[in-house]
Amino acid sequence: MTTLLIKNGHVVDPANNVDAACDIFIKDGKISALGKNISEKAEAEIDAKGLTVTPGLIDMQVHLREPGREDKETLETGSKAALAGGITSVVAMPNSNPDADNQTVIEFVIKRTRELDLINIYPAGAITKRREGMHLAEINELKTSGAIAVTDDGVDVQNESVLRRAMEYAKTCDMLLMSHCETSDLTEKGVMHEGWVSTQLGLAGTPAASEDLAVIKNIMLGQLCNARLHLLHNSTSGAANAIRNAKKQGYKNLSAEVSVQHFALTDEECLGYNTNAKMYPPLRSRDHVDAIIKAIQDDVFDALTTDHAPHIEPDKLEAFQDAAFGSTGLETSFAVMNSYLVKAGHINFSKGISKMSVEPARILRLQKGTLGVGADADIALFDTNHSWTVESTRGFSKGKNCIFDGKKLTGKAVCTIVGGRIKYREGQILS
Ligand SMILES: [Zn+2]
Repeated sequence: MTTLLIKNGHVVDPANNVDAACDIFIKDGKISALGKNISEKAEAEIDAKGLTVTPGLIDMQVHLREPGREDKETLETGSKAALAGGITSVVAMPNSNPDADNQTVIEFVIKRTRELDLINIYPAGAITKRREGMHLAEINELKTSGAIAVTDDGVDVQNESVLRRAMEYAKTCDMLLMSHCETSDLTEKGVMHEGWVSTQLGLAGTPAASEDLAVIKNIMLGQLCNARLHLLHNSTSGAANAIRNAKKQGYKNLSAEVSVQHFALTDEECLGYNTNAKMYPPLRSRDHVDAIIKAIQDDVFDALTTDHAPHIEPDKLEAFQDAAFGSTGLETSFAVMNSYLVKAGHINFSKGISKMSVEPARILRLQKGTLGVGADADIALFDTNHSWTVESTRGFSKGKNCIFDGKKLTGKAVCTIVGGRIKYREGQILS
């Protein structure tokens, strides 16, 4: 029997409406008691005075690059970066090399996750073979081998008939289908949001309509099949409106997320041709960002994610139009949410935590995201007032391409616990 006691912390557990000073007693990897002044003796104790104790964060959209691009990230370095951000569970996107369109890759990720014994990594399988949008992958086989969802993330399934059949197939297997919403015919060679800033920089823009059309298409087909549909990284006011309407009309199996950079930053980050600001979907103009924040307040968006996308330095040292898409985010997402939503006065802390733990767990059907008695002891301890400047060269991720690099954020993970064991404490990984 192993026991751990977290004392004197302020516990925020949105699933159980707890927002109070509490102790937590952990036994054999599960939460065994939560209450004031627990006096039971434990083998180890953490004094959480001045800290906020929450469920470990769950990130539904992460690119870990293994197998295939271990120079960019590995399951190990990505796991360590997650721990440093208070994240205890992630969904690994299938755009590895080879793609996770078959049982072998899914089983590899699951086996490696077990060996590493750092965080929970749930692999997503591909919708179509090689994510080419043509032939459906064996979704049932992916499910039985342990995939938590299917997605062709990185690209949209452009052909409506293929997408419909994929949704029907996923529905019969009771599988979550996650869509990257983009209309490639409209994106063309766009490298940033199409608007005033792209014109000023002389860069090809991607119109918001590229995302809006794909979101509407996905919702219409999702309603037709009543698919369990999750829309990844939404960034436009049009996407927010379409999802708001679909939810109002009663499409209960629909969920949607925002990656944290899309409520925090605008396309003005591209001024100066900063290639870390190049990502898909692109950082949008202020009017879109304001609409996204409003939709987060209204729970149109269920979850907040990173879309963590590490790259090697040469991929970002290119001219803006040639540089790779994406930013890292695992080590900064909590601080971005805390700074740009909570401290900025848009939502309360409990709602922010809910969208990074309770809601992802609900969508993914994980028995996690809660500090209720009997739950897995996946826990994060944050100093919510700690002010720091992001220096991605000092991070655990192999990717140093963080759009928040050099920015001042408030809030930092101090200790991260997975399955009742302390895996990260004050800058150190403990295994
Ligand atoms: Zn995507």
